[in-house]
Amino acid sequence: MQHFPVFLDLARANVVIGGGGEMALAKLRLLLKTEAQITICAPDIAPEIRAFTPRVTLVNRPVLACDLSAARLVYAATGNENEDARIAALGHAAGALVNIVDDLEHSDFITPAIVDRDPVVVAIGTEGAAPVLARQIKAQLESSLPPSLGVLARIGKSFRKMAEALPQGPRRRAFWAEYYDSYGPRAFARSGEDGVAQTLDDLLAQHLERPSPIGHVDFVSAGPGDPELMTLKARNLLDRADVVIHDRLVTPEILELARREAVIISVGKEGFGPSTAQEVIHALMIEHAGQGAHVVRLKGGDASVFGRLDEEIAALEEVGIPWQVVPGVTAASSAAASIGQSLTSRGRNHALRLVTAHDMNGYADQDWQGLAEPGAVTALYMGKRAARFVQGRLLMHGAAPDMPVTLVENASRADQQIVGATLATLPQKAAALGGPAVILLGLAPRAAQQTLTLQEVAK
Ligand code: SAH
Repeated sequence: MQHFPVFLDLARANVVIGGGGEMALAKLRLLLKTEAQITICAPDIAPEIRAFTPRVTLVNRPVLACDLSAARLVYAATGNENEDARIAALGHAAGALVNIVDDLEHSDFITPAIVDRDPVVVAIGTEGAAPVLARQIKAQLESSLPPSLGVLARIGKSFRKMAEALPQGPRRRAFWAEYYDSYGPRAFARSGEDGVAQTLDDLLAQHLERPSPIGHVDFVSAGPGDPELMTLKARNLLDRADVVIHDRLVTPEILELARREAVIISVGKEGFGPSTAQEVIHALMIEHAGQGAHVVRLKGGDASVFGRLDEEIAALEEVGIPWQVVPGVTAASSAAASIGQSLTSRGRNHALRLVTAHDMNGYADQDWQGLAEPGAVTALYMGKRAARFVQGRLLMHGAAPDMPVTLVENASRADQQIVGATLATLPQKAAALGGPAVILLGLAPRAAQQTLTLQEVAK
């Protein structure tokens, strides 16, 4: 993002437009929506612009330095390259921000396309890349945002103090959502601004009488990253959540699916990176559900696999908050799918182990004998740093150094990487990965196996 969007306070600020034709008029029309003190300087000033006096100050000659001494914004809008450059230089010397109309490269700022429902204003910019697209987006927004929105927001703003009678959180949010979604627009259509004010009073009284809703927590599995690998149930719950508390493993594409009013809280937890203490996560769930919120505790993969689910459930049970678990696709399933392999196979393995390389005491101990057996298949979670330790244990228990191993990083995401390895090369391959990776011990990518078979056939 080269241009950072901000909303500039132009009340009583000086804005100078150099130029008196079409271009100047277009900018003037936008600026007239503000309370800026606008001056137009040009030897020729179009009658359409003259019509705006005395709201606009007209100076019937080219811009001079003295015109700009107190200017906050300067528009060079003469359409003449040399004259615009001269005005821009004067503007810069005066310390103003300068826009040369239709010359992005030499401008300090751009004027976005605007959808105006004052005080609700949407600004659309494409950094000059696609003005047509900006116009399309503007047209879509113009048709989807009701004209009454500005009035509703203005009346709503003056009612904010009154609404504080409702406790902050889901109850107050529900009040405002009903106002903007249905009651406000209907009242405005029926009886204008006065009707809206009366409706706010009635709606507030109604909400104050409602009993506090009982909050609850859904432990929702987000899957490995691809939103299409979420269950319908997970999507529906995410769509309704008041509060979403998520791990770092949950991708932005999935968070996008949350209700737009939802409060999104990240409790980043990653192997060795910074993490939120488990107690803080418990406290957050209890605080929000305690206020009546529908909380979604969104966990990467399947919530019940290496996700400390039991501890979180216990914390809720202790204070009597209802909960449920929504299952999902775990990283091992996604990784196996990505290499076209079955996690179990008749005649090869009758058991599948999901193991973690870490436990509370450091490296986790396992049934190494079982893991080392020919044909055994194990999905190793959080295993990148422990790769050498795991390799050592397996070799010690008789595993073959050429045991097939596949590392799947960022399974199901756009940046997924599949790395074929053997037990012998595991540590070095694991060290090269940066993202979350699941290590499939005993499985090779199906394509690699095919190649091997072809080579064998060739022998
Ligand atoms: N509940 C999660 C696992 C959480 S433990 C699940 O069911 O998948 C975190 C570990 O999961 C990571 O260190 C990594 O080993 C694995 N993991 C999670 N998401 C992954 C993904 N998209 N690709 C590869 N591994 C992943």
